[in-house]
Amino acid sequence: MRLVVLGGGESGVGTAILGKKEGYEVFVSDFGKIKEDYKNVLNQYEIKWEDEQHTEDKILNADVVMKSPGIPEKAPIVKKLLEKGIPVISEIEFTAQFTNAKTIGITGSNGKTTTTMLTYHLLKQAGLNVGLAGNIGKSFAWQVAEENFDVYVLELSSFQLDGCINYKPNIAVITNISPDHLDRYEYKYENYIASKFRITMNQDENDYLIYDNDDEAISNWLQNNKTKAQLIPFSLLEKMKNGAFINNDTMEFSINNEEFAMKTTDISLEGKHNMKNAMAATSVAQLMKIRKETIRESLSNFQGVEHRLEKVLKIQNVQYINDSKATNVNATFFALDSMNVPTVWIVGGVDKGNDYSELMSLVREKVKAIICLGIDNRKIIDAFSDVVDMMVEVDNMRDAVNTAKHIAEKGDNVLLSPACASFDLFQNYEDRGNQFKAAVRNL
Ligand code: ADP
Repeated sequence: MRLVVLGGGESGVGTAILGKKEGYEVFVSDFGKIKEDYKNVLNQYEIKWEDEQHTEDKILNADVVMKSPGIPEKAPIVKKLLEKGIPVISEIEFTAQFTNAKTIGITGSNGKTTTTMLTYHLLKQAGLNVGLAGNIGKSFAWQVAEENFDVYVLELSSFQLDGCINYKPNIAVITNISPDHLDRYEYKYENYIASKFRITMNQDENDYLIYDNDDEAISNWLQNNKTKAQLIPFSLLEKMKNGAFINNDTMEFSINNEEFAMKTTDISLEGKHNMKNAMAATSVAQLMKIRKETIRESLSNFQGVEHRLEKVLKIQNVQYINDSKATNVNATFFALDSMNVPTVWIVGGVDKGNDYSELMSLVREKVKAIICLGIDNRKIIDAFSDVVDMMVEVDNMRDAVNTAKHIAEKGDNVLLSPACASFDLFQNYEDRGNQFKAAVRNL
């Protein structure tokens, strides 16, 4: 059997190693440059590869192709493979067939990483032999080839799910759905929603689907489509029969006749969105029969994830907060919602077709000044100039932070929550967040 791997990054190299171990004849092809480290690994495992080209003779003779999530369906080589009827699958699909480990698959538009890390933390603290993979860290394929975990917590993007055919998580989580990446879905929101729900398409009566009951897109889908999985909803608004909800300041669970409750103030994460993430992760922990004491302890000592509402420093009683990972309006909505003092808001970057109207009332209520950090700030200025008196444009992070320092008064917050992608002025959201933190430390 010939396995061709398109893309020589983390998931591609992992898949190649697993494929080789399972007896496939493997070939890796990347149209860009493969990193030196990965080239060395491929050589070490005696796996054939090429980069900066796709040699069709060596690709179109595949029995199966693993496409890395970054490569679009529209890429010419993928089109040719599909025309020939050669299966093009994702790393998750390829890998799942070679492990008996349980998997917990976590998807959604926002909150995937936070929920995945928190779930992993809960299971790890409970002493389970658990691995963490998907969009995070070392690839699932590589771990299945070389480790021996009993359970995996997988962060799954819609691109990973698009390449799934038979994969079935024992527990699936959909954190929420709001428009994102529509360029990859023919600008049709329903296609993107359908892609997220692929996570449950192979589940059966012994499996579970945990989801946000307050989410319109999710509720609509569930009303009009079927899944065999047992449903475990969570909600901020109303009590769930078999699920979780926030009753004033207490998070309450009733899952398969097991009860659990915890004060929200004892949970280390902050913000409504994080209460949702905590309900999702705790529902998993309950289904996995983790002891209540362990759940309680883990929820109170979880450190949060870098670049997600990360408290950086308090200087002259002004709190600086790094939410660089907020690359869409919905993420920024929850960041602003969780501000409880006047806020200087740093926003902007590459607009992905944002509709800022959802933010209007929060901005009116919480934001005292806006610092626009982008090459083209017109949309932001148009949207908010009637609502916020002070708006300043800057084109680098040092100026943004220095300007914020001048405007902020004792007791205020300075929040970087851009609602946009970072590629106009930064390499990626991590670079943007790191520059913010460095500038704050330099004040
Ligand atoms: P993802 O991996 O899906 O991008 P992250 O956990 O990295 O999710 O969070 C991305 C951004 O969304 C951060 O700005 C974070 O504060 C915000 N966020 C986290 N959880 C949620 C949620 N449940 N709903 C809305 N926004 C969220």
